[in-house]
Order: sequence, then structure tokens, then C-alpha cells
Amino acid sequence: MYFHYYGQLLHQQNMLQDYVRTGTYYAAVIENRADFTGRVVVDVGAGSGILSLFAAQAGAKHVYAVEASEMAEYARKLIAGNPSLSQRITVIKGKVEEVELPEKADILISEPMGTLLVNERMLESYVIARDRFLAPDGKMFPTVGRIHMAPFSDEYLFVEIANKALFWQQQSYYDVNLTPLYGTAFQGYFSQPVVDAFDPRLLVAPPIFHVIDFTKVKEEDLYEIDVPLRFTAAVGTRVHGLACWFDVLFDGSTVPRWLTTAPGSPTTHWYQLRCVLSQPLYVMAGQEITGRLHLVAHKSQSYTIYLTLQTKMWGPGAEQGGILQTSSGKLDLKEPYYRMSQPQSYTVAQDQQPHQLLQSQELNVQTQDIEEADLLEQPAQNSGAHFG
Ligand code: SAH
Repeated sequence: MYFHYYGQLLHQQNMLQDYVRTGTYYAAVIENRADFTGRVVVDVGAGSGILSLFAAQAGAKHVYAVEASEMAEYARKLIAGNPSLSQRITVIKGKVEEVELPEKADILISEPMGTLLVNERMLESYVIARDRFLAPDGKMFPTVGRIHMAPFSDEYLFVEIANKALFWQQQSYYDVNLTPLYGTAFQGYFSQPVVDAFDPRLLVAPPIFHVIDFTKVKEEDLYEIDVPLRFTAAVGTRVHGLACWFDVLFDGSTVPRWLTTAPGSPTTHWYQLRCVLSQPLYVMAGQEITGRLHLVAHKSQSYTIYLTLQTKMWGPGAEQGGILQTSSGKLDLKEPYYRMSQPQSYTVAQDQQPHQLLQSQELNVQTQDIEEADLLEQPAQNSGAHFG
């Protein structure tokens, strides 16, 4: 199923046409020529072969483009049609877990990210490729990934999801009482993470992040990812769940560069992900929101998401630490609700700054992103972030 999807040219085109994605990879490679010139490169999951071609453009001595799907044939064709580069690229059809390469790599390049960074579980293949092919002290492009999280408030989204189950509240649908299945339907809709681009002003606290260092992480570490949550609400509102996005760093020796999928940044085909809780929480400004995001890998190349958010008592009596409200949800990352088809009311005004809460976090690490918005302003208007 998985490799059948990537064997189709239209899905590769969808990724290629995400100009934020492809343009950032291009910039990261070309600006860091020194990391490629004269080096042996392995492209992990080469797809159309685009990243192999970039690496060859940057002067790679040789690129091994490993691709498991039928796309390997098309990659061969595409690469052969670029004769100035094709001499230095070998396409190898097979899984990175299984193929043998004649030499060790100085640098790995790959685009293994799915929704919430980890969907599709291709990071595991990236890590296996590292252990099999990368020379000691070799580089990885991307080098690290971060999952960012913040509680959000979105009354419209909450009502939209809750209303989907209303159908099952009918007591006489062709004289049939549908209500016995109302609860099941309600929970079912809340088990779908929502994928769309949202207004960062919906965030109610500064985000936190969880780092995955691709150069160090073990394959097993990716089976279960446990993130303790702790936020301080910036406003008094109803919290409807947890908003998540990711970024990855190309830690090039000339210009380190981030690829971000943050809300308010130019939209990518990954959009953002929101886990909506069926029970909203009430918070006051300054109140602490704690909880846990627990991701458990499953056999369908995705994760079960266990989310808990809690708010503690505020003011007199707080020192007793009594928990006032807890809300939990279990969601399947494999079955997202793609909401992008519905037009978003949000448009960024010319003079509008990115969200205050985001700025405070990103400022120290992402200064090199400034020109990215100018360079790559076309949002990807495609459906489906990777393998759905
Ligand atoms: N590198 C391309 C394609 C990225 S999509 C680009 O950036 O445009 C990820 C690709 O990796 C898909 O084509 C998929 O078939 C391939 N892939 C996923 N897991 C793999 C594995 N274990 N071995 C080889 N290829 C794999």
C-alpha cells in the first residue's frame, strides 16, 4: 500500500510542488556545497530523485539514490535526462533496510517527515540507513527535527466536529432510533487529528518543543514518544486541544537552515495538526496547563496519540495542588481529518506580524528563516500530506 502510493508520479509531483519544502532543501544543499563537493551521498527514499540531483549539482562525487517503490524506474529516467549529473548518480531499487552499497556515505540526504514529523514511520528507515551506510562523523540532512506543541482555542472547529455526530441523535430516522450510536460517533470524530492551516492567534500559550536528533536517536526510541506538557496560558479562554507542527534543521557547515511548518509561516503540504479534545478546559490568564502527549507506534506505519491536558486550581487553595479539570483523548494519526478544503477565513494582512507567542520562541534559533518567506511565497495548494 505504502510503496504503491509513492510509486505514482502524481504524489511525487505533489511533494515537488510544495515550494517551501523543495525550495528549502535546494537552498540547504546549494548553500552548503562544501558538505557535498567531492563527497559520497546516499539519498534515503529518493522518490523522483530530486534530492540526488540537487546533491550532484552541489558537486557530489557520487550519489546512491535508494528508492523502494516503482518510482525508482522514473527516477532513473529523470536522472538520465540530466546528463551533466547522471554520471554521478546510481539509482538502487530496494529498501534502505535491505540494499547493499559499495561504499560508506559522507552525508545522507532524505525527506522522511510525515504529519507531526513522525507519521509514516519513515524516520526509522532514516535511522537504519544512518547505521548501515553513514561513515563515522558523517552528516545528515536533515540533522534534527522538533515537534512543537501549544494549546489552542477554536470554538468553530470544536462545534464543527461535535456537530458531525448530531446525525446520530435522531430518534426517528425512517422510524429507527439512531441514538444508541451517538456516543460512539461522537468519540469517533474526536479521534481524528485535524490537518489544516490555522491562524497562530488561536494559540493560548507559548509553544514548547520536543527534539529528535536524527544523528543520535535509536530506532527503538521512535516506537514510543512521551512528551510531558507544561504551558502558561497567556489569555483566559476555553482550551479545545493541542496544536502541533514540526521543523527540521539542515545543520550545514556553511549555513544552517530550518524548514518549518509553523502556523503563520508559508504553508506546506504538511499544514499543521490539531488534536481536539471532546471536553474543553477553562483557563485564566497566567494559569498553568499541564499534561502529556504520548505517541505509540502501530503496525499501519503511524501512531496512536494519547493526549491529556489538565489545569490546576488558581488563587487561594492552589498550594493544595488539587486538579480541577482533566481532559483526555485517544486519536489515530493514520486517520486525519483533512480540513483544508474548507476555505479559511484567516488571511495575513500586509503589515501583520507573526503571532507574538511564536515569535518569542523562534527568534533565537530561526533567524536564518527570514529570507525564506521572500524566496518561497507560494503555498502548496495540494491535498494530502504524504501517505494518507
Ligand atoms: N526524496 C523525495 C521523495 C520523498 S517521499 C523528495 O524529497 O521529493 C519518501 C520516499 O521514500 C518515497 O518515495 C518512498 O517510497 C520512499 N521510502 C520510504 N521508505 C523507504 C525505505 N524503507 N526504503 C526505500 N525507500 C523508502
